[in-house]
Amino acid sequence: MARKILVLPGDYIGPEIMAEAVKVLQEVDQRFKLDLALEYGLLGGAALDATGVPLPDETLKLAKAADAILLGAVGGPKWDAVERHLRPERGLLAIRSELQLFGNLRPAILYPQLADASSLKPEVVAGLDILIVRELTGGIYFGEPRGVRILENGEREGFNTYVYRESEIRRIAHLAFDLARKRDRRVCSVDKANVLEVTVLWREVMEEVAAEYPDVELSHMYVDNAAMQLLRAPKQFDVLVTGNMFGDILSDAAAMLTGSIGMLPSASLDQAGRGMYEPCHGTAPDIAGQGKANPLATILSVAMMLRYTLACPEAADAIEQAVSVVLDQGLRTPDIYTPGQQLVDTTRMGDAVLAALRGR
Ligand code: NAD
Repeated sequence: MARKILVLPGDYIGPEIMAEAVKVLQEVDQRFKLDLALEYGLLGGAALDATGVPLPDETLKLAKAADAILLGAVGGPKWDAVERHLRPERGLLAIRSELQLFGNLRPAILYPQLADASSLKPEVVAGLDILIVRELTGGIYFGEPRGVRILENGEREGFNTYVYRESEIRRIAHLAFDLARKRDRRVCSVDKANVLEVTVLWREVMEEVAAEYPDVELSHMYVDNAAMQLLRAPKQFDVLVTGNMFGDILSDAAAMLTGSIGMLPSASLDQAGRGMYEPCHGTAPDIAGQGKANPLATILSVAMMLRYTLACPEAADAIEQAVSVVLDQGLRTPDIYTPGQQLVDTTRMGDAVLAALRGR
């Protein structure tokens, strides 16, 4: 039976980068006989304009029936003034929690060809290959109670709840350890166990799960030190596992080590390994419609989909290899351009990856 892939192009540069990623997906579908059935849906601002809500029932139905989802990005200034519960990002948060996509994988890989694009010295980042595993459906972003209340003396007080259940920690730990087994077998768990009780439990559960993986080395690091170490000596890490809020911040910092956000893919997985795949960047309204968007993060998200949900690592390797070939050829969209390289637009970049895949 055909495997269903739901394609959600999203807003601003979303459809531009998605067109290139879909070309690549269709190519590997044919070449590796994957028998994929692509369906299209609306999410975010595009959905709001067409249906009045950022996550229409129809999209959710398609998402629940799909084996994997490929998303561009959602949101932008056009919808800045809409009510909070209708904002495009709400659609994204809702789809993540409806599908229980608890495990967010964000690789920070620096292609050697782009070492000059990083803000750090090339020797600090060349060959960087970190995988950040962030818990995505729990922690302080979802904890209750939350809100802003008025105290007896009339002063306002804002509050959130940082809460993790043992089962939530255990499942993200298993994901991190399983992934480490496919890499350098090292997991660094990031917490703030010197101050926050919830992360004392986090650390304890990490130790318990580690006992089931004697072949994987576990270390712990406080989040403040982890932020520092990421900038000082990022290559010391293999897999970094952490909670929702710390992961949000650290993964953006790690993204910048690689120079361009236009290069970084991500995956969000559920317990069964089904997932949503998307670039780490947003909708880039400042460059939308100008052919300047780098499609490689979305193309590399397709590679992650093939590796983690569709179990076709050969196709994933082929795409990653094709991206490397194109970088070797010196082709660059403006975000990764340095003098002496060949400046290309979004479509040319997608076509070049396709040609490299076909061996031409
Ligand atoms: P952004 O990632 O869209 O853009 C930040 C900068 O990076 C901009 O200068 C942009 O031009 C550049 N950039 C981003 N992607 C690029 C690409 N593929 N190629 C070349 N350059 C690229 O972040 P932002 O400006 O803070 O957000 C814009 C909108 O995107 C906001 O509405 C935000 O809410 C939304 N957003 C959506 C997602 C998502 O859908 N997952 C994630 C982040 C931001």
